[in-house]
Amino acid sequence: MIETEILIIGGGIAGASTAYHLAQYGRHVTLLERNDIASEASGVNAGAIGAIGWGNVPNLESYLTMGSLEIFKSLQVELGYDIEFRRSGSLQAIQTEAEYAYIQRRVLELRSQGYTVDLLSTQEAQMIEPALSPALLGCLYMPLRAQADPQKATRAFASAAERSGAHILMSHEVTRIQSQRDDPYRVETSQGSYQAATLVIAAGAWCGGVGAMLGLRIPIVPVRGQMWASDPLPPRLFHTISAAESSLQWHTAPGNDPQTPPYLTHRGHQRLTRHLYGRQTHTGEIIFGGDRQLVEYQKKPDSAGIEVNHGHAAEVLPFLRELPVARTWAGLMPFALDGAPIIGRIAQCPHLYIVSGLASSGFGRGPMAGKLLADYIHTSHRPHVLAEADPVRCVTQVA
Ligand SMILES: Cc1cc2nc3c(=O)[nH]c(=O)nc-3n(C[C@H](O)[C@H](O)[C@H](O)COP(=O)(O)OP(=O)(O)OC[C@H]3O[C@@H](n4cnc5c(N)ncnc54)[C@H](O)[C@@H]3O)c2cc1C
Repeated sequence: MIETEILIIGGGIAGASTAYHLAQYGRHVTLLERNDIASEASGVNAGAIGAIGWGNVPNLESYLTMGSLEIFKSLQVELGYDIEFRRSGSLQAIQTEAEYAYIQRRVLELRSQGYTVDLLSTQEAQMIEPALSPALLGCLYMPLRAQADPQKATRAFASAAERSGAHILMSHEVTRIQSQRDDPYRVETSQGSYQAATLVIAAGAWCGGVGAMLGLRIPIVPVRGQMWASDPLPPRLFHTISAAESSLQWHTAPGNDPQTPPYLTHRGHQRLTRHLYGRQTHTGEIIFGGDRQLVEYQKKPDSAGIEVNHGHAAEVLPFLRELPVARTWAGLMPFALDGAPIIGRIAQCPHLYIVSGLASSGFGRGPMAGKLLADYIHTSHRPHVLAEADPVRCVTQVA
């Protein structure tokens, strides 16, 4: 039995960032990952980092996005990790009159709240992103948004944690957790047993299964996200690119019910909307994705969905029409049933914490989610912004 102070289950960006920040505070941390670091959602995502500013009254979303932006930047600039971080800015394509009216209202609202967004005409947008279709009606411009390589960034957090004294253990699948009041947690893995007074669940789409080992119901479901890539091209795209169709759809009908999280593209196999995001990577590949579907733990991409996404991307960037799909992949995003992050202390068990529910934007929000949780554990005081993410609203004991 190996003893430590804090055990973290899961080596995605949420767990790796928590480990890094706790180790920075001098805490004794061991992270248990069943595969490799970044082997699930954190390693296969699009690498888009969303941020539109702190706003006049910073809320949880501003902390998660703007805080993460600063952490990514310091990882690359101060700690010297090449994570391909770049404050590229982002353009959201407007394709219909209804989308234009919605985005116009949204820009006025966000600017009045102190956020940095702008509405560009198509000609203005083409001056900074020449490949955009002239048929667009305009673009929502978010200049603070950024991008980074998901594998390199997540691994950099794990490496920085190790450099600060954390133990990062791969191929350690947690199979059983024993907890008795006032006793430390005893965690069995595929490679031996570990003991710690404090336990952090950062198991992404698998949080439900880990919670069940403790007799808890954690309402996080796996949502499949899928992507495609072209062969490498010379530099052609400079921003991260998205489209307004799904924003308008989810504004009018988020699509959630007690068993279904909001903001999905499908209900069963029926398409509700087309969602689109992508960028050109450092290697020159153009990568795009968008579909979000509940298909349990199935990670095989759906080719019909890829075709729809490729078609949508080509409407926004016509040069993609002739560019074949070279490869596809999929991963599982951790969606809470109410769509909001779950970050904080789980009241049913002593010294038990969770950092998850980061859904479709956990790459861009994970670094600060880990820091906020590390602050909470280290000081025993909940950062005030975590009130919005308190597990008390949804984590229950199994009867
Ligand atoms: C296709 C796709 C595109 C996306 N694009 C973006 C994007 O552009 N921008 C953005 O911000 N977000 C994006 N996301 C979402 C983002 O990737 C996720 O929200 C984020 O990576 C979740 O991180 P995590 O650490 O919570 O989970 P994960 O990365 O899934 O990590 C959880 C880890 O826990 C481990 N684990 C599970 N069970 C056990 C166990 N029993 N024992 C030990 N280890 C265990 C898993 O192996 C895994 O490594 C995308 C996701 C997908 C799938």
